[in-house]
Order: sequence, then structure tokens, then C-alpha cells
Amino acid sequence: MLSYLKENRNGQFLMVGIAMTVLGFVLIPIHDISSSLAFYIAIFFLGFFAAKHAVVDTFLKKALNVDLLMILAALGAVAINYESEGAVLLLIFAGAEVLEDYATNKSTSAISELMSHIPETAHVLKANGEVIEVQTNALQIGDMVVVSKGEHVPIDGYVDRKSKVNEAALTGESVPVEKQVGEEAFAGTINEGNVFYLTVNKLSSDTIFSNIVRMVEEAQTRPSSISKFIDRIESTYVLGVLITVPLFIIILYSVVHLSFQEAFYRGMVLLTVASPCALVASATPATLSAISNGAKNGVLVKGGAAMEALSSMAVLYTDKTGTLTFGEFQVVEYEADEYILKEVVYMEQQSSHPIADTIVSSFKELTFDTVDLTEAVEEVPGSGLKKGNITVGKPSLFNEYKDPYLYRKKAKEGYTTVLIGRDQTIVGYLSLADQVREEAADAVAGFQKQGISVILLTGDNELVAKKVAEEVQVDSFEANCLPEDKINVVLKKQAEGKVVGMIGDGINDAPALANADIGIGMGSGSSVAMESSDVVIVKNDLSKLLYSFNLSQKLNTIILQNVIFSIAVIVALIIFNLFGLLGLPLGVVFHEGSTILVILNGLRLLRQEKRDKPEGTVTQ
Ligand code: ADP
Ligand code: MG
Repeated sequence: MLSYLKENRNGQFLMVGIAMTVLGFVLIPIHDISSSLAFYIAIFFLGFFAAKHAVVDTFLKKALNVDLLMILAALGAVAINYESEGAVLLLIFAGAEVLEDYATNKSTSAISELMSHIPETAHVLKANGEVIEVQTNALQIGDMVVVSKGEHVPIDGYVDRKSKVNEAALTGESVPVEKQVGEEAFAGTINEGNVFYLTVNKLSSDTIFSNIVRMVEEAQTRPSSISKFIDRIESTYVLGVLITVPLFIIILYSVVHLSFQEAFYRGMVLLTVASPCALVASATPATLSAISNGAKNGVLVKGGAAMEALSSMAVLYTDKTGTLTFGEFQVVEYEADEYILKEVVYMEQQSSHPIADTIVSSFKELTFDTVDLTEAVEEVPGSGLKKGNITVGKPSLFNEYKDPYLYRKKAKEGYTTVLIGRDQTIVGYLSLADQVREEAADAVAGFQKQGISVILLTGDNELVAKKVAEEVQVDSFEANCLPEDKINVVLKKQAEGKVVGMIGDGINDAPALANADIGIGMGSGSSVAMESSDVVIVKNDLSKLLYSFNLSQKLNTIILQNVIFSIAVIVALIIFNLFGLLGLPLGVVFHEGSTILVILNGLRLLRQEKRDKPEGTVTQ
């Protein structure tokens, strides 16, 4: 906070202003004129940015703001020789402004701090064994990068040996993660084990990390409806105050017959206490604090609007693979001759589905000598792949196919089934198994406790869906969903007036994610899914979503507290002033004090909540 004050112009002005105000108070009993002079200088420094803001908004944007009211109140105070009150008023106002900036900065600094962790250059191992230094943004897919012990990983890629990586920058989890051979390591994380080689699999502009940075930047342009509402009424409210204050002075002077001095003084008190400073600060600092807290815990909420939607979610639909399960399948059984298997592996190389990754890595030793590499592979998201007369994918694609070897029956029950067909005949099958994530079950229970129903929507078969649904204890499930089925389910629930959340990771989920009130993408999923969502869970950990949901609820409570408190203070102070019971000094203190309290209340959301059961600890 201190360094923040020193480094920013408004922070520096605030410090000069504070010094001059203190000097002014010290000089009061000693030398009247120099005391006033000190206050004038203080008012200049403290009011500089507010005045600038007031002028710019009023004339260029044609919108009135609280800054204008504060400047007028301070000038009014000076006019009736209350310069110390004027200085204190602006001092607290400028202080509040700096606090607000601090919150805004905090939400981006978590990210820009990460940015600085991405090395600008990387060490590339060339085919001849030579290691050269290359700009990170010039790395190509397939390049081999050397990551030494203790170094930041410069780019996303596959590791060539077992290693340990600290992913706190992405997930907030400081316990290092074990990476097995061939697993993906991400830009911005730290190699805490021994040196490893990384095969680049994404350009530096497409890494999870750079996606995150871009999305956080976009987030700030999407305010919540309460922020928008407050922004909208600010201008009207200020205009109301600007009209009421002179009227109030005239009435006190000509109807109540106070002296002009007295009437003007009371007018200045009204101007000060009626300003909606606290109200204006009710939502934004709190929202940014919550977003920043979420980001530190591996959940990116794209703006206040998304926070708001998350907090009011009534139903949560979830995909299965990669969300409730690890998405790391094992081929438990298969049958197909080698010629066709080669085709399948070649085809799956073109897909980003977790099933595809599994099939490719399970049959690594196969070569493509007999495969026609010129023929196009076509993916039907959520179903499978086609290449010429060969089709690979879910059983329902093969309803019209002949099955002379009875593969449909042979495919193991309760496992994810992939059939292989050629010309209208089924020529092979694979049975795949995946594992449920334990934390997914915990998170689902957590959501249910909050009254949210969790429903599984999967493209997989009935038996697998049922098994997972039972293990994770979701409220209900729908199997054999096509991408359009997922959208229809979402739309139908929305038509019932429910706020609908949807979690997914694949291209086939993207349309449903975009249609849901709150689309939640998995960070390790496809980038289309991430783009279509309002919230991204950086690592596929559902408990992080529960954390953010709780955060969004707390945010609502805090905004509500702030709004009620600010309005109550304004009303109370106006009533006191009507009866002439409030002096300018106390008016300033109460009014500005309420603003500071409201902002501090919002900043509470920066604090990390302790999770019930932190990973890595043993509960007895
Ligand atoms: P989930 O809802 O579990 O995420 P998807 O909707 O992504 O599942 O996929 C549904 C089914 O489609 C899978 O169980 C699988 O049988 C088939 N499928 C999808 N993509 C592929 C692929 N690339 N290769 C083979 N089969 C696939
Ligand atoms: Mg999926």
C-alpha cells in the first residue's frame, strides 16, 4: 500500500495534501494567516484530481459526478472561512479515491505480476544438440525447449520425463504437481524438480496463461447491473443535489429568516452530506476485490455481471468427461485389425477430445505406413470422426451399420464405448474407462447444500452416465446428449425462469456454454469453450468453482450492506441538518467516514477464505 502511494501521482498528491493539512492544524494557534495558507495549498493538492475528474466528466462526457459536488462543497467551505473543513473533506475524499484505485489495481496486478513471470526468451534444443536462445513469442509448435531447475516454464508443452512443477501462478495451489512423461506443463509455472525438455504444443499467444491475461482485461469492461444502475443514477442524483442546495439556502434565508451566513453554512452541510460518495463506492471496489480473489484461486470470473449471475445460479448442468472425471481414459479392451487401428490413431490425432488423446497415446508404436495422409478428417463434435469410408465414435453413429462380429455387444458394459465402422459395417471397438474426481463429489455436495441442483449432461452412454452420477451424487443425469440437446436443456430451464449455469470443456459444449446464464469453461479444455464462457476454472477443479460461488454470495451481501448503510447515513445526516443539529466538521467526518467504511468493507473480499479441507492436509 505504501509503495503504491509513492508510485502514483494521486498517491503523491494525497501525501502532500495530508502534510499541508496537518501543518494547517498545527499553525492554527500560532499564526492564523499561514494556517489558512497551508489549508489552501492542501485543498489544491487534494482537490486536483477530483477537480480534473469533475471538469472532464461534466464538459466532455456531459455527466455530473460526485467529484463536482465535493469540489463545490470545499470551495463553499473556503468561502465561509471553514478552510480546515474544506481540506479535511477533500483529504478523505482523495483518500477514498486512492483506496478505490488500489482495489482496481489489485485485481489486475495479480495478473500482471504473473505476466512478469513469463520468461521473454527460451532455450531451444536444436536437432544437432546445440542449445540456442530464442524469443518466447517466436517459438514454434514442436520446438524442444530446455527448462532448468527453478526456472519459469516459458510456454505450454509436453514434458519428456517425470518432473515437479509449481502451478500456484495458475491455480493458487502451492503444492507442486507431479508431471508424468508426456503430460502438459504450462507457461508461467515453475520447474521445481530437475531439468526437463518440453515439446512446445501451443504458440505463446495461445497458451492458457495468455488467454487468462486477455480475459481478465476484458472482464473489467463488463460491470454488474448494480454497478451500472449506480452509474446511471449518479448523474441524476448529483443534479438533484445541485438544484436542492441553492433552494434550501433560499428557503432558510427568506422563509425561515436565518442570516445569509447561517443559511449558506447549512447549505454547505447539506451539499456535503447529501453527496452519494459512499453509494457510488458501494459496488465497484467490492466486485474487483472478489474477482481478484477468485483469480488468485484459479477461477477467472469475467466481470461483475458474471459474478452477479454466478451468485444467483439455481441449476448447474455439468459435462462429464474432464469435469466430473479426470478425462484421462484408459483403453481397457479393444478389437480391430492393425490396418484399421492405424487409421483410427491417425484420425484421432486431429481431435482435441480427451478420448482422442487417450487413443493416440495408447497406440504410440503404430506407424502410418498404410494410411492415406491426403484424405481429409472431419470431426463431428461430441460424436466422433470421419475419414472417407471410415467412421469412429459413439455407438449411436452406427445404428444403420451391420455388426457381423457383434462388437456392439462385446463392448464392455458400463464403459465408454467407441465403435469403428467401415463402409456400413462395424469393424472394431474400444472400451475406455475414466475415473471420477473426488473433489468433484465434494463440490457437488457443497452446491446442493446451497440449494443448487446439479445435473449431469453427457454424450456418453446411459450406463457410464449412471455410474458417474451415482459416484458423484448429482441430482439427476441425461445420457446420449448431442450438442444441440445440451442447448435445449439449458433453454428449457431458462424458460422456467431459472438462472442456469453450465460447465463444459469441449467444442461440443461451447454452444450450450454461450446460451447458459453463466457458462463455465474448463481451463484445460478447448479454447472455444473458454471463449464462450463467463467463468473459467483454470485447472479442472470443481471445488474452486464452489469457492467462487461462495465468494459471489458474499459479494452480494457486502454490496447490499454498503448500499443500505450509505443511504441510511445520508438520510440521517440530512435530517440532523434540517434541524440544525449538525456542524460542518462533523458532517464531513460522518459523510466521508461512511465512504471509507464502505470501501474497506469491499476490500474484505480480497482476503483468502480458508477452505474446509485444504488439499494435502490429513483430517483425523
Ligand atoms: P462427455 O459428455 O462425456 O464430455 P462427449 O459429448 O464429448 O462426452 O462425447 C460423447 C461420446 O462421443 C463419447 O463418449 C464417445 O463415444 C464419442 N466421441 C466424441 N469424440 C470422440 C472422438 N474424438 N473419438 C472417438 N469418440 C468420440
Ligand atoms: Mg465433453
